[in-house]
Amino acid sequence: MKLAVIGHPIKHSKSPIIHNHWLAQNNIKGSYEAIDINPDNFENEIMGMMNDGFDGFNITIPFKTNIIDLCDDVDDAAQKIGAVNTVHIKNKKLYGYNTDAYGFIENIKSSKPAFDFKNKTAMVLGAGGAANAILYGLIQSGVKKIYLTNRTQSKAAVLQSMAHDIIDVIAWDAYEEKFNETDILINTTALGMVGHPDLTPTLDGLKQGALVTDIVYNPLYTSLLQNAKEKQYQYVTGIGMLAYQAQKAFEIWTGTLPVIDNALMEQL
Ligand code: NAP
Repeated sequence: MKLAVIGHPIKHSKSPIIHNHWLAQNNIKGSYEAIDINPDNFENEIMGMMNDGFDGFNITIPFKTNIIDLCDDVDDAAQKIGAVNTVHIKNKKLYGYNTDAYGFIENIKSSKPAFDFKNKTAMVLGAGGAANAILYGLIQSGVKKIYLTNRTQSKAAVLQSMAHDIIDVIAWDAYEEKFNETDILINTTALGMVGHPDLTPTLDGLKQGALVTDIVYNPLYTSLLQNAKEKQYQYVTGIGMLAYQAQKAFEIWTGTLPVIDNALMEQL
């Protein structure tokens, strides 16, 4: 099995650690490498991978949207999200999938099995690439309302078209006013990540028993999650989303749903 993750830049990707762990654990002969692709030569590079006998690859920034046009078919999630993060190559055809929504939802479900998305109100901070997949995952999981807010409000308004009846765009400087209705608060912005400013809402007024989650995982315990812990809210860290989106991709390529065990998580 010949696998890879492609992106630009790519050298900090943790995906090779995850997939090489699973290839070994499941006695599957193969390799998973990180390949830096020149954006000016994107299409040729993909054709080259096909000719080199790759069975599949993950795609990350900045190619998740560009790859759609090269795919022979894409799954429903990738179509609705408008981005592909996993490609399976079969008989010289490219099949595109998006496993990010699965990754986000499964991370919450595995960490907090008692949390039921049905009829809940979510608040999503951020309207970048990751937010798009998370909105899809939340809607598929049955939330009744999503408050979406972003520094650049016009980008949130674009994402609202996924479900006008569920998504309500609110102002970036006033989102805390809706905390009293929020069952799950999700940071999808880069705030809190190493090299970026912290995200520091007080969390005062957040609904009792609410779940706070951050998809930033470097650092693992972001300022938002530390704050949630101090205020005794439930919280879920972001690294599991990475592991679960990889789990689904591995299943697509190999037919085996790999185990996310401590031996893996300790390496991430
Ligand atoms: P992106 O498309 O570049 O979007 C970045 C988002 O962050 C936008 O909403 C942007 O707002 C916001 N932002 C950046 N700087 C800000 C600031 N100073 N103040 C307010 N908002 C700010 O990035 P992405 O792909 O969605 O990724 C976002 C984060 O999620 C990254 O830290 C990434 O590492 C993490 N992530 C984690 C996983 C996982 O598996 N756990 C998966 C994907 C991404 P504007 O639109 O106003 O610029």
